[in-house]
Amino acid sequence: MRLPVVGDGYSPIDYEAAESVLRHAIDKGINYLDTAPTYHDETSEEFIGRALQDGYRDKVAIATKMSKKVVSCREDCRLLINDQLQRLRTDRIDLYLLHNVTKDSWRFFEDAGALDLIERARDRGEIGMVGFSTHEERDFFIELVDSHDWDFCQIQFNYADRFIQAGEEGMSYAANKGLEVVIMEPLKGGMLARDDLPYMDVFSESDRDWSPAEWSLRWIWDHPEVSVVLSGMNAHAQVDENCRVAEVSGPGALSLDDLLTLDKAKDALDRSCNIPCTSCGYCLPCPQGVQIPRMFTLFNNHVLSTGHSWGRNMYNFSTAQGDKAANCISCGECEERCPQDIMISELMPMVHRTLSSSD
Ligand code: SF4
Ligand code: SF4
Repeated sequence: MRLPVVGDGYSPIDYEAAESVLRHAIDKGINYLDTAPTYHDETSEEFIGRALQDGYRDKVAIATKMSKKVVSCREDCRLLINDQLQRLRTDRIDLYLLHNVTKDSWRFFEDAGALDLIERARDRGEIGMVGFSTHEERDFFIELVDSHDWDFCQIQFNYADRFIQAGEEGMSYAANKGLEVVIMEPLKGGMLARDDLPYMDVFSESDRDWSPAEWSLRWIWDHPEVSVVLSGMNAHAQVDENCRVAEVSGPGALSLDDLLTLDKAKDALDRSCNIPCTSCGYCLPCPQGVQIPRMFTLFNNHVLSTGHSWGRNMYNFSTAQGDKAANCISCGECEERCPQDIMISELMPMVHRTLSSSD
């Protein structure tokens, strides 16, 4: 989902750079790749299939998904699995998920008999483990856990988001039922890797020499329920840091002081006015052309930065007029697609006012 791309958007993937990072990660021992038919404007799976030639396919487990965005009936679901096997250039998808399950998409998947099709594909040996990803709240998450004999689930989890969506409680429930737990957004779309945010004061007071990303990753690995941490990496240095941190982390590796530091860092973030956008891009396209995730990135940069506002400068001097928050007509079309439940239409006028003002 977060491979190197050419330009500012979600595609085209920079194939050469992305393949280099991917193969470097596998050479370092990373053995789980997460993709989906929708990522990088529907080019991610094809990239993965191509990049895993030359013997790399056999060194990794591939996880991909059935996304409601690309299917509208049972036949679409059946064809999708065939297409994915071809795009990924494999005869078996090791882990298969229902993607971003919401109350609405769950109804669709049930009506279309999606799980029946997936289980049939598993019987034919085309699929290994079966799971789901969701950003829904705990109660619905628990309903989902109980609704099928899943092998695994994928949830958003990091020290700043420990009580939202499935949260710690939902995660424990799933793990106790025997599901493997895969973590997404461990760095909250990159926000928890930045070194210019309010939590830096808290981390500076600690005697640990850890980057913000390391603090967050270590906190996640401290949970015994966690099987896999999915961290989007688009540079060799990120791969190296993630591998090193995974090697030295684990349940019980954080001290009480470390945990208190992370609690304070969460409080510092909660006090700031940032918008909890993870730049997933699910809200796009906007019929008015507003580049929604980009607008929130610039806004968060502005409100969280102390001193020079890169966000405001980028908005005023390096953003095309057609991309700007000012073009929002509050149609609300994007909001039902946002897994973080962000009130996009209400926020856009404020984002424009804040970024275009010189105060
Ligand atoms: S509410 Fe605004 S940002 Fe969202 S789709 Fe409509 S015009 Fe675009
Ligand atoms: S506004 Fe929501 S859907 Fe859009 S990029 Fe941000 S988190 Fe994703």
